[in-house]
Amino acid sequence: MATGVANCIFCKIIQNEEPGEKIYEDEDVTCIKDINPASTHHYLIIPNRHIRNAKELKPEDAELFNKIVATVDIISEKLGLDPVSTRTGFHWPPFNTVNHLHLHVISPIEQMNLLGKVMFNPKTYWFVNTDYVKSHLEGRK
Ligand SMILES: [Zn+2]
Ligand SMILES: [Zn+2]
Repeated sequence: MATGVANCIFCKIIQNEEPGEKIYEDEDVTCIKDINPASTHHYLIIPNRHIRNAKELKPEDAELFNKIVATVDIISEKLGLDPVSTRTGFHWPPFNTVNHLHLHVISPIEQMNLLGKVMFNPKTYWFVNTDYVKSHLEGRK
């Protein structure tokens, strides 16, 4: 078992050892509701495999990463989220909440609360968009 897995709340939710409101799940990813929603809709797309954070993604994780990003479309379609008003992004170390990689999906942006606007601001160095992470895991950043 990898370091951290035993006490990881997300690993426990994925394995149904802890309650969590699952929106979607398949063999690679799980989507749950954020317990502290920053807007009307706030979800977390998490890989079923324990990866600590976005910075630790490696080139060999590209397929899984693409799947995480593609799940945004599945969730948006399922819940009728307007892509124009939806924000997605990852925490960037050392700023993190739960040490299990998760992609935040927040909608609508216009309804975000004040704390959300600060925490999930893609123009900061603590919250980054999917393109940034993709460049990083490919070794271009
Ligand atoms: Zn975990
Ligand atoms: Zn988070």
